[in-house]
Amino acid sequence: MTNALEKGSIVAVIGSGAMGAGIAQVAAASGYQVRLFDTRAEAVDKAIADIGKMYGKLVDKGRMDAVDADAARARLAGVASLKDVAGAAIVIEAIVENLDVKRALFADLEGIVGDGCILATNTSSISVTAIAAKLRRPERLVGMHFFNPVPLMALVEVISGLATAPAVADTVFATAAAWGKNPVHAKSTPGFIVNRVARPFYAEALRLLSERAADAATLDAVMREAGGFRMGPFELMDLIGHDVNFSVTQSVFNAYFGDPRFTPSVLQQEMVNAGFLGRKSGRGFYRYG
Ligand code: NAD
Repeated sequence: MTNALEKGSIVAVIGSGAMGAGIAQVAAASGYQVRLFDTRAEAVDKAIADIGKMYGKLVDKGRMDAVDADAARARLAGVASLKDVAGAAIVIEAIVENLDVKRALFADLEGIVGDGCILATNTSSISVTAIAAKLRRPERLVGMHFFNPVPLMALVEVISGLATAPAVADTVFATAAAWGKNPVHAKSTPGFIVNRVARPFYAEALRLLSERAADAATLDAVMREAGGFRMGPFELMDLIGHDVNFSVTQSVFNAYFGDPRFTPSVLQQEMVNAGFLGRKSGRGFYRYG
């Protein structure tokens, strides 16, 4: 049985948006030292403030001890430069969903972190094999795919690319379990498990809306109340972010050589063009704030 990374070791989280903040919240609460980095310093500040508020809410609800919340807050720090993650045991990347940008980040990280450091990507759909391919040591890169919102969603897909060392995947699996998650091993196929199975859920809903079968609220209500889903497709896309959701569809479509089953939605592309990204921009299929 492979061990989890030791409690107290440093977890660096690169990208402090929706996912990075959630990952940082869970890692710090699980006893790890967290270092958060983002190219936008204000994103780090916001993430740390939001995480503090989330711990406060958990304390108010009696789901976290106040002393534990203070200790978790104290384990959390922002860093101003990528070089400041040098001592990390694992770096988890949650930046923009773009192969070239992720490759460039990991290439930089290879020159910064120690030999034993695991490099993990939270990519939703990009080939883990491809992200790792240009590294000097591709065997230490693995997918650690959390779901949104990270503190609430138990599943973590641990994705092995062709070069990933089994021991690396096993350590990440054990670490996710130590963080109270429910990990599953998967191979690097387009969309992995959940995002592959979920493509038709979004695509058919977008087609139905384009054909004016019913409005978004009605379609969501039907899927929730009759379909038994916790969220309908439109509220879920608004939560995920249309930019993220659209790029995942594009990436799966391209990975399957333009298979029409995965054709991206023109309607969703227009949402992205308009900047109607969902909750994070205040407007998607619904309005927020
Ligand atoms: P987001 O837009 O909320 O946050 C991304 C952050 O990364 C931003 O703050 C941005 O400033 C920062 N960033 C961009 N380029 C950077 C770089 N080179 N170095 C450092 N920081 C950089 O995005 P998100 O929703 O948190 O998604 C992040 C990753 O997680 C993506 O790969 C996405 O596909 C994946 N993911 C998203 C979801 C979801 O539901 N949103 C679920 C699972 C996985």
